[in-house]
Amino acid sequence: MRGDTYQTLRADVEQMPLVDAHEHHVAPARTTDILKFISGFYLTHDLASASGSETAERMFDASVPIEERWKLFEPAYRAARHTGYGRGARYAMEYVFGSDEVTLDSLREWSTRIPDYSDPDRYEQPLADAKIRARVTDNWPPLASIVDGSYHGLPNQYLAISLPQFHAITRRTDIEKIERAIGSRVTSLDEYVDMCRLIFGKWKECGAVCFKDQSAYQRRIDYRLATKADAEALFNRILADPRQAIEWGESGHALSDWLMHCFLRIAREMDLPVQYHTGHMAMNYNDVAKGNAAHLRVVLEVHRDVRFDLFHANWPYGGDLLFLAKNYPNVRINFCWAQQIDPVYAHRLLVQSVSAVPFTKVHAFGSDVGGDQPHLSWAYAKLARDSVASALAELVDTDFIDLEAAREIAIAWLYSNPREYFRLPIDPA
Ligand SMILES: [Zn+2]
Repeated sequence: MRGDTYQTLRADVEQMPLVDAHEHHVAPARTTDILKFISGFYLTHDLASASGSETAERMFDASVPIEERWKLFEPAYRAARHTGYGRGARYAMEYVFGSDEVTLDSLREWSTRIPDYSDPDRYEQPLADAKIRARVTDNWPPLASIVDGSYHGLPNQYLAISLPQFHAITRRTDIEKIERAIGSRVTSLDEYVDMCRLIFGKWKECGAVCFKDQSAYQRRIDYRLATKADAEALFNRILADPRQAIEWGESGHALSDWLMHCFLRIAREMDLPVQYHTGHMAMNYNDVAKGNAAHLRVVLEVHRDVRFDLFHANWPYGGDLLFLAKNYPNVRINFCWAQQIDPVYAHRLLVQSVSAVPFTKVHAFGSDVGGDQPHLSWAYAKLARDSVASALAELVDTDFIDLEAAREIAIAWLYSNPREYFRLPIDPA
């Protein structure tokens, strides 16, 4: 956007602190491959979309000479450079190398200047530069370190309790992971749930501020009200015979459904919100329909005392998500990763959310970045600031809100709403 209102708001938004409402940072780590460094995880999927998975695989094969990789990378990158992932990558290049001109020569030169993110201070620098004051993380710590209390996250990191491993169980070995963490045996479904409750409690003692589930990658998220008898029959089958496996796929199964509702009751007891992956899925070749947040209707109707934070702006089902957030007091919209998937969609949905949903129910930023890519957290924070400023500028310029309201909404979306929602012990804005 070029107008004066946008420029004014963008400058204001630049000064605002952020809560990263969803990320995956595990530990400082170093990338040495320049193409991996500039692409991160997500852009590789758009490059595969442009060129085919086999071509993308070869362009990221570090054993192939860089000249050959460049010939594959260049046309795919040219085609994908305007997507959210491409734009994010360009922001990150500008931030790290001072230029987003990608050529074979610049790649060779940049590869000598890749920051060493195995150094904890270097790793934290992009997050500090992005003014990220707190981050809600789903980083799958070893369960044993949660149970014995030895797990410590990174600075300003607040944990999410990763749910899929507890309900996506298909064989005896899935139960054994939980047993090993606790150090005792499971002999019934009731004991299994007791162990899960114990682990969740320990996770909260380690600082967890919410639950998180991303089973939409594997199954339709229509968790049904299965009976305990049906769930127990499946559970007993794999408990009694380690050679047996039960189906787990697009429609889940009664055991997974029953356990999910069980865990939501525990979330109510523990008074922790629940984050669900909805909408688009990373990588290529998946079925988006099964991840539509509209499938959560039964969960939202039944668990009215549980707070739900629905992810990724449910891309591309924005209208369905606006309905859910407008209709259910216990639903929030989380734009994590949405500005990277599709910044124009994020802009439009942010605009529409102001006229459809109380602005106190929106979390506008989550970098959704993991591993060795803190520079992409910085870049994605910039994308989020762009879309917040552009959405609000459009509403100001069409006389829907005034500049003061725009500033009030911006700080709520980027900081105050997630701060209060996750009860983060950070300063008010
Ligand atoms: Zn994520």
